[in-house]
Amino acid sequence: MTFLAELHALLGDAGLLRDGADLSAYESDWRKRYAGRALAVARPADTEQVAGVVRLCATHGVSIVAQGGNTGLVGGSTPDDSGRQLVLSLQRMNRVRGIDAANLTMTVEAGCVLQAAQQAAADAGLLFPLSLAAEGSCTIGGNLATNAGGTQVLRYGNARELCLGLEVVTAQGESWHGLSGLRKDNTGYDLRDLFIGSEGTLGIITAATLKLYPQPRAQMTALAACPSLESAVSLLNLAQAGAGSGLTGFEAMNAFSLSLVRRHFPQLPQPLAESPWTVLLELSDSESEAHARELFESLLESALGSGLVTDAAVAESQAQSNALWHLRESIPLAQSQEGLNIKHDIALPVSAIPRFVADTDALLAQAFPGVRMVDFGHLGDGNLHYNVQAPEGMPPADFLRAHEAAINTIVYDQVGRFGGSISAEHGIGRLKREELAERKDQVALALMRSIKKALDPQGLMNPGRVL
Ligand code: FAD
Ligand code: ZN
Repeated sequence: MTFLAELHALLGDAGLLRDGADLSAYESDWRKRYAGRALAVARPADTEQVAGVVRLCATHGVSIVAQGGNTGLVGGSTPDDSGRQLVLSLQRMNRVRGIDAANLTMTVEAGCVLQAAQQAAADAGLLFPLSLAAEGSCTIGGNLATNAGGTQVLRYGNARELCLGLEVVTAQGESWHGLSGLRKDNTGYDLRDLFIGSEGTLGIITAATLKLYPQPRAQMTALAACPSLESAVSLLNLAQAGAGSGLTGFEAMNAFSLSLVRRHFPQLPQPLAESPWTVLLELSDSESEAHARELFESLLESALGSGLVTDAAVAESQAQSNALWHLRESIPLAQSQEGLNIKHDIALPVSAIPRFVADTDALLAQAFPGVRMVDFGHLGDGNLHYNVQAPEGMPPADFLRAHEAAINTIVYDQVGRFGGSISAEHGIGRLKREELAERKDQVALALMRSIKKALDPQGLMNPGRVL
């Protein structure tokens, strides 16, 4: 039997898309930067089927591109254009296997959409805190494979810190049952942490045991106008000192990011007048609404008094709070409406961010007069989306073709100078593979290659990504 016939015998009609079927949704990425051609799309229904698919691929030498919600931003989840790579979609494996409320854990399958996982936790009166703008379509498997961050990292950590155990199908097609809900387990090398963040290059994550938290009693959200990025960082320090772990969100947006939202989504109300930087703060409180409000108001009063903040708007209802978050989350969409742009998802020590932005903005403006900087992100955890938009009126595709490489060099050299990372939360994929090879510590790279070779000696798991 041919490979596809064997695959069909294993998965049946529901589990295999090929030939005449429309595969386009699986073949190009969310940003439309990568368009490829799949040999077929396998949609296994359970872990045993995943293992069967991987074994067949190993026998026939077919490489596998794991795919969850296909919302990744670095070209990791779509096939190349050879027509020989199999897309392995986890979408059908979307069950919540169980919740252990007393242990504060939940076990879900890899294809479970993040929002559905959040909802399952909420239905049990608990909180699964991972939260990002793609949560309506991204999956737990994809979140773990990219070690996603999002807006609550400040308080709860990134996907890695929210995962206690994994079930993984290895490149040999064996199932590793590591779904432990233990918070302590020092029995040798940490295999879980090896697969988290491996972007489909070491094995297929099929399920995970995740950490849950009690739900906060009250939540407060506000927008604050800051005269500079320095004052935004001082506001962060003030909020951390005042609220401690109650500070659950701290997002910063430069004036141009919000002006793009105003231009492309004029229906979204912006409660504050334009200012150099705007901060979205969120405070969660385990005591009461009144306690949260008191803390929040005294914090904003002292920030206004000392000039760190020039104006502020506090959300008075859940709807108003959602509207403030919606403003922040509309920036990436407004950016794509404005045209192709160059994205940098970088991490820096928080203390270095104002200097980094001032110096790098100046270098870019000098080299490419008229470039427009869309700077926003998770300032609370030192993660900036430092994006470059073509000068007004210049066709963005032409601008990117001519200058993307030079702009990346300037930005990433600066990131290195300030002790930062070229990927904070989106991963490496295809987009940053060359940069990684050039900029990562060479000993670290050699260790990574050894791990890849040991776990995937045939090189069939998402080849050409990360390494
Ligand atoms: P996919 O895109 O399908 O895959 C991503 C990578 O993981 C690929 O390399 C793929 O091969 C691999 N993979 C997927 N599933 C598995 C599996 N089961 N086993 C092994 N490998 C697998 N990211 C953040 O960190 N923070 C943000 O705030 C954020 N905001 C975003 C906002 C928008 C609008 C969008 C479109 C994306 C955003 N992202 C953000 C990117 C982020 O990486 C993804 O949204 C998410 O984590 C990927 O999940 P996914 O299921 O879509 O994975
Ligand atoms: Zn982000």
